[in-house]
Amino acid sequence: MRILWAPWRSRYVERIDSFRDCFLCEAISQPENLWRRFLVLYRSERSFIILNKYPYNSGHLMIVPLEHTGSYEDLEEETVLDMDRLLRLSLKTLRRAFNPHGFNIGYNFGRSAGAGLESHLHMHVVPRWNGDTNFMPVLAETKVIPQDLFTTYDRLRKALEEILEGEGA
Ligand SMILES: [Zn+2]
Repeated sequence: MRILWAPWRSRYVERIDSFRDCFLCEAISQPENLWRRFLVLYRSERSFIILNKYPYNSGHLMIVPLEHTGSYEDLEEETVLDMDRLLRLSLKTLRRAFNPHGFNIGYNFGRSAGAGLESHLHMHVVPRWNGDTNFMPVLAETKVIPQDLFTTYDRLRKALEEILEGEGA
């Protein structure tokens, strides 16, 4: 049977189908009152910001397209722009909340590159502090962090809201 072309629908169905395997789709499908539990910090038209559950450092964020895809080269340009906007919002938010000395930003594409979830791409944003470590398995590994995830979430959320208010958004 032929189905009418309805990209919004195929995207929706894809997302539903991928639930079982994709914690990112699962998280962003929650109602806003459950965002904290799922560590979703912010959602825009085409992407969202979520805390990494197994952070490399306190404040380790991920920027994720709403679309369930592992193919960066197939992302629509507007989605790339939207993610970039969220990257800059993330940097501002992290600076305000934690005053890091630097950041590592990047992607792992494919298992061999260290991706834990290949089917739904995500950009890592990792704040860094002088002396936190000299060696860099940065975007792949987990280590013990001093701050509780929800405490981190609350600080980031507060900083984010202050920034958005300041921008009149
Ligand atoms: Zn997904």
